[in-house]
Amino acid sequence: MRGPFQIESKDPGSLARAGVLRTQHGPVRTPAFVPLATKATVKGLESREVTALGYDMILGNTYHLFLDPGHELIARFGGLHRFMGWDGPIVTDSGGFQVFSMGHGNVAAEIKKTGGVGGRASSVRIEERGVTFRSHLDGSTRFMGPETSMEVQAALGSDLALVFDECTPFHVTRDYTARSTERTHRWLQRCLEWHERHGPAGQLVYGIVQGGVFEDLRTASSLEVASSRCHGVAIGGSLGADKPQMHGVVEMATSVLGGAFEHKPRHLLGIGDVDDLIRGVELGIDTFDCVMPTRLARHGTAIVPDPDGRWRVDLSAARHRESQEPIMDGCPCPACSTGLSRGYLRYLVKHRELTGARLLTVHNLAYLARLMADLREAIGEGRLAERAAALRAGDAPRVFEGCAGASRSHSTMKYMVKRVVR
Ligand SMILES: [Zn+2]
Repeated sequence: MRGPFQIESKDPGSLARAGVLRTQHGPVRTPAFVPLATKATVKGLESREVTALGYDMILGNTYHLFLDPGHELIARFGGLHRFMGWDGPIVTDSGGFQVFSMGHGNVAAEIKKTGGVGGRASSVRIEERGVTFRSHLDGSTRFMGPETSMEVQAALGSDLALVFDECTPFHVTRDYTARSTERTHRWLQRCLEWHERHGPAGQLVYGIVQGGVFEDLRTASSLEVASSRCHGVAIGGSLGADKPQMHGVVEMATSVLGGAFEHKPRHLLGIGDVDDLIRGVELGIDTFDCVMPTRLARHGTAIVPDPDGRWRVDLSAARHRESQEPIMDGCPCPACSTGLSRGYLRYLVKHRELTGARLLTVHNLAYLARLMADLREAIGEGRLAERAAALRAGDAPRVFEGCAGASRSHSTMKYMVKRVVR
């Protein structure tokens, strides 16, 4: 059976593959990074700007849109695409991560490494039917179960829905993780059953692999999800305490997804550091999402090809006050290509000027768009090992037409053939 995902080339030296995921609102070239449009916007940008950066798909947040403005209201506007003026593919998460991040203490901080909502264990009640939680907006008691999550995502009209799962944190026991993973599998079946009866035609559904850092649980969960009727496989939950463990956990999942499951697309939830994206691609991940590039930008940090500096430069630091250098050489984004200095950007960041946040958001998203295009191209050319090594060593991603952040009309971009501009 021909599924929504076609693999176009495979890397002989790793699990990496490049392909095209076909959705109701157009194709997604993979491997791809998916910017967050948590509250129906990629913060600070217009939809056409996100497209001009070379992005095919964005991610909307079920939890936030469920609480405000509500999925019924968005449905009355014709769905999330029309509500926010984005006519490309949209993936919606299930709301599971946000619901549970309030219940497991510091799970959000642990998984996202950003400092989450802690100490509110009493505000969440987990039962077989679903989860009762307190809205972070007004403290009201709300409920979300597998069917609710699918109903919200159906009303939003996303191209790709994720099933409702329990996002297990790192600090719980193996026994808890095992029982929770089994419940996530039962919820997967309920999501698929609801979707088969009521889901919008053409909406793809991804199951979510849990199992914490335990190899047997991760392997079993991968096989359970992949052998279900879902269209794709997402990897979620706690991926470990550090990068090596996280890469190991991803490999536990993807290494058993070959053979009959090879053509199910794979999404890695909440990962977006430059080195993690490179490794994730090598481990056979097709799509990634993460708050990192846009959140860092709003706090004055730019992504740069500097492995020793964790690929980041904090432009709010006083040492940039007199710097007349651009963020990075050779970047086609509006800030770098027009020669705006680090000193100027530091000044904007220091005074929380909206222009500063916007310029850094565009720069960071331009960097990741080019990184993914570079990896995609390298897989197609059979040179992934060489290219990944260079990028890891601090080589800047190559400049591709369509990943420049320059203004282009949506329709031009959509049909433009990608070419390398050397
Ligand atoms: Zn730039």
